[in-house]
Amino acid sequence: MSEALGRIGPPVLRVEDVHKYYDLGETRVHALRGVSAEVERGGFVAIMGASGSGKSTLMNILGCLDRPTSGRYLLDGTDVSQLDKRTLAAIRNRKLGFVFQGFNLLARTTALENTVLPTLYTPIDQLERKRRAADALALVGLANRADHYPSQMSGGQQQRVAIARALVNGPSVLLADEPTGNLDSRTSVEIMEVFQELNDKGLTVVMVTHESEIAQFAKRVIVFRDGRIRKDDPVRERPRAHDTLGLLPALDD
Ligand code: ADP
Ligand code: MG
Repeated sequence: MSEALGRIGPPVLRVEDVHKYYDLGETRVHALRGVSAEVERGGFVAIMGASGSGKSTLMNILGCLDRPTSGRYLLDGTDVSQLDKRTLAAIRNRKLGFVFQGFNLLARTTALENTVLPTLYTPIDQLERKRRAADALALVGLANRADHYPSQMSGGQQQRVAIARALVNGPSVLLADEPTGNLDSRTSVEIMEVFQELNDKGLTVVMVTHESEIAQFAKRVIVFRDGRIRKDDPVRERPRAHDTLGLLPALDD
């Protein structure tokens, strides 16, 4: 989808005065203290902030894995903050893709089979599942690794499989919590190259990172502190990961 089209209609993500408490017996942890933000379609947002500042709590809410204690969350214009777990799970499977720091692939399962997994809730035949998974692997540059097992792939390749798996149901948003946290710097930039290419195609990306060099590949950086948004700025002179890779020394592996 083009960027112009992305500006029509509601923002893809919108949180309004979101608070989140965790009750731990006697004590109460106030993880989010009134967070409001919008992400437009085709946005690419990096979320930064010290450990414990509420980044993952927000990602879990955006990902419909958890609900705010108060405040509203609108996904594609629909208020999902009070939906029951079953409905949330269905929305999550259709609209959202997730990538985590640990790649969370099944070990004795090929790249293609790992990528097929999220389609198992969709009533389509086996051939169509495989076709969608192969398309998703091609999108992340792994068309020729479909029958490889995780142990036969580098960390960067495994993370690409995880990205393909996140994309296989055609989500509108990719949510990534520290996606480069386990990767060396060159491989991290390679993952940013994949994210930028997907974002160019219209996918909305929200990514947590603690590295400012990685955050610069996004279009916008939000900084959290103590459960609040402290800064929210567009990235000026955003580097293209593809160009950055040309300047980095190759690793010998
Ligand atoms: P970040 O991802 O920025 O490191 P988190 O969102 O994980 O921060 O955590 C924010 C605060 O909420 C921290 O004080 C953390 O200890 C607390 N917290 C997060 N998840 C839970 C949970 N499931 N139960 C209790 N406290 C939690
Ligand atoms: Mg976290």
